[in-house]
Amino acid sequence: MALVDLTSVEVKESGPNYDKFDVEKNDKARIHIPSGKVVQEHVHVFHREEPTMIERNGRKVPQWSRESFAGTFICLGDFETVLASPSYGDPTNCPACKAMNSGARLIERPKRTFALNVVRYATQKRSTDLRNKNVENQVWRHADVRKIEPILQAAREKPLNEIDFLIEADNSDWKKYQIQPSLGEPAFKKDSALEANMQNAYENQFSEEVLTDACGRSLTTEALAAEIHRLEAEYRIESEQETTDVYTTEETSALSTTGGSVDIESKTTAGDLPVVPTTDLDDINDALFEGINPGE
Ligand SMILES: [Zn+2]
Repeated sequence: MALVDLTSVEVKESGPNYDKFDVEKNDKARIHIPSGKVVQEHVHVFHREEPTMIERNGRKVPQWSRESFAGTFICLGDFETVLASPSYGDPTNCPACKAMNSGARLIERPKRTFALNVVRYATQKRSTDLRNKNVENQVWRHADVRKIEPILQAAREKPLNEIDFLIEADNSDWKKYQIQPSLGEPAFKKDSALEANMQNAYENQFSEEVLTDACGRSLTTEALAAEIHRLEAEYRIESEQETTDVYTTEETSALSTTGGSVDIESKTTAGDLPVVPTTDLDDINDALFEGINPGE
C-alpha cells in the first residue's frame, strides 16, 4: 500500500457505527439490557455460489461455504406472510423471496433476525467480576430467538432494569451462550460511579435505525432486485469459467425445470432449513463488514 496523507483517507459511510456484542469462546460477560424493545426483521443471506446438499437428521439441507457469503439483506415481504411460510416467503413484495426458489440457489430463505441494545460491563478475563466501572453500549444481533429464551423468561418475571445477565460462551464451533440472570440486584445499583455510567448508557442507546442496519442492509425493491441481478450475473460468469458442471445434481435440475414456481413440498418440510454452522449469522455479520463492500 502506498503512503498517503491521513486526511485523504476515505471513510466509508455505510460501515457499522456500533460495537457488536460478542463473547469469545470460553469467555464470560456481564450485561444489562436497557430496553425491552428489539428490532425484528426477516433477513435473506445472499451467496455467490450454490450450496451443496448435506444430510441432517435424515433430511437434505443446503450448506453454503463461508467464502460464498455475499451479504445480508432485509426481506421486503409482508412480515406475517413471511412468518407463516419462510420457505415460500412473499414473492409478490420481495424480489429476494421471488428469486430464492428459481434459478441458481444463491439466496437463503428469510430468517427471523433480532437486534437489541446491550450494555456490557467491563469484566475480568473469563470472569463476570467487574474489572472497573466502565460500561459499553453494544448491539446484540442474532438469528434465533431461542438463544435469548432465558432473557425473555426473566423479563416476564421482573422488569429488565432490575436484572443483569451473566453469559458464558462454550468452546464449540457454534459457540453457544449460556445465559442466566444474576442473583440479586444489578451491579450498577451498588456503586454510584457505575450507576452514573449506566445512566449515560441508557441515554445513548442505539436507535431503531442502527438496530435495523445491524440485521441487514435495507434496500428499496428496485435496489434489491438490482443487487440480485448483479449477483446472478456474477455467478453465471464465474460458473462458466469453471470446468466442473455445477448443474449436475438432481436438486438443481429439478429446481431449474420448475422455472419461477416453487417446490414448496421439499422446502417447507426441511424443518425450517436449520441453520448450518458455516452460515451462523454472528460470523456472517463479521464477514459482512470486513469482506464486503456493500456500497457497490
Ligand atoms: Zn424476502
